Amino acid sequence: MKLNEIKLTNPYLDLPAECHDRVKPSPLTEPFLIHANASVAEMIGLDKEELNTEAFVDFANGAYAPEGSDTFAMCYAGHQFGFFVERLGDGRAINIGTLNGYHLQLKGAGQTKYSRSGDGRAVLRSSIREYLMSEAMHGLGIETTRALALIGSKHSVYRQEWEKGAIVLRVSPSWVRFGTFEYFAHKKKYKELEALADYAIAESYPHLVGEEKKYYYMFVEVVGKTARLMAEWQAVGFNHGVMNTDNMSIHGLTIDYGPYAFLDDYDFNFICNHTDQYGRYSFGSQPNVGEWNLNALMVALAPLIDTEEMQKVMGHYSKFYTEHYLSLMTKKLGLDERRDEDLALIKHLLGVLQGLSIDYTLFFRTLSRYSGDRKALLKIGLYHTPMNDWLDEYDKRLTENTSSTEERQANMLKSNPKYVLKNYMLQQAIDAAEEGDYHLVDALFQIAQDPYAEHEVFDKWAAATPDELKNRKLSCSS
Ligand code: AMP
Ligand code: MG
Repeated sequence: MKLNEIKLTNPYLDLPAECHDRVKPSPLTEPFLIHANASVAEMIGLDKEELNTEAFVDFANGAYAPEGSDTFAMCYAGHQFGFFVERLGDGRAINIGTLNGYHLQLKGAGQTKYSRSGDGRAVLRSSIREYLMSEAMHGLGIETTRALALIGSKHSVYRQEWEKGAIVLRVSPSWVRFGTFEYFAHKKKYKELEALADYAIAESYPHLVGEEKKYYYMFVEVVGKTARLMAEWQAVGFNHGVMNTDNMSIHGLTIDYGPYAFLDDYDFNFICNHTDQYGRYSFGSQPNVGEWNLNALMVALAPLIDTEEMQKVMGHYSKFYTEHYLSLMTKKLGLDERRDEDLALIKHLLGVLQGLSIDYTLFFRTLSRYSGDRKALLKIGLYHTPMNDWLDEYDKRLTENTSSTEERQANMLKSNPKYVLKNYMLQQAIDAAEEGDYHLVDALFQIAQDPYAEHEVFDKWAAATPDELKNRKLSCSS
């Protein structure tokens, strides 16, 4: 489809007026395309050639409205760091319509009714981070929102200093958050709450439409999806950083990329968010926070679903999470089947990685080529005894594997990425981009899309993070 053939629909606008606010985007001055995602274009049915046109830049800048365009911001509430905020909403994201089931949204396109004191803008650095990282999560096979385009501009935006504004054209099958339900529950607007639940079911869980206990089953699905997402984050070493309930997707997607980080060295207690003084959203806390957030959702859904029944479902959260996490970890370790003793093997390993400050991604990628020769693995950590002890156990466990060493290695190379986008890499891409050089954005995009491939030219990014660049914390001021 060409850009001028697009016909957008706006299913969210069928919801009661309380749910949204119609608002026009405020385009950036002197916009230019930094990157466009051909695979997302294909996913939504847009011709790839269209991505190189002037009209496409206008489209991503909110200056070109295709047929059917009726732009709006969504309203939601949320628990931020444990405290309820009764009205948040898209303060700088403007929805421009739906195409083939994907909702298009411009992040950074100006103020809305929900901007509070914010300027409705997004700066270049945070936009690069969201653009690249959402694609990296997709490349890792983790459910996430994605982005069709990233544009830069000459538009000045003030944070701690003057910066340049940018827009990420985000794409998602759903933008409904736990906090969207909390908004209506808090206001005791139960008709709207029900309409929202019906909307979310049609959008995210269409197999439940017409089901007698559809709201209950929706909750079951959300609990399962959230447990699964938390397991995926933990297994890959991703720290989201701002797991407020307004940043939790009812569809089980990773959304709203802020001060996130991939682990450099394995550190269970790592906190990527500079403003998270007490580590509420530390890496190791994420599965528990997922549960806390689901409890907040449960409270919001109480007018629609029997609380005792929801509590019973919540009683299974931890089992759902552990099951999924263990199955991912056994894959990372190249084990054909999971045994009860494997939990001890995994715990032992994580203790070694933590104790020796070993790069998480590098370790598993190196282990993927292990065939008895320990040299490469021992080189990664300073002390050999703890690693040797663990490898003795691992060797023993491998004797019970039915697959050959070659098969195991091939499987492990598909389960252990060579590359993750660490913050120091993103920072290098941002530093260059701020000087008008986008070649690192391009390079990181390539490895993001296929993190299991060798990409030999980018080998340096598969090494352990240089010491002086490790464990960077980021602030939310984006
Ligand atoms: P976040 O932490 O990015 O998920 O944002 C939390 C809330 O603040 C959301 O309602 C955002 O829309 C809003 N927000 C963040 N930055 C801005 C901004 N620059 N202008 C307006 N609203 C913002
Ligand atoms: Mg958010």
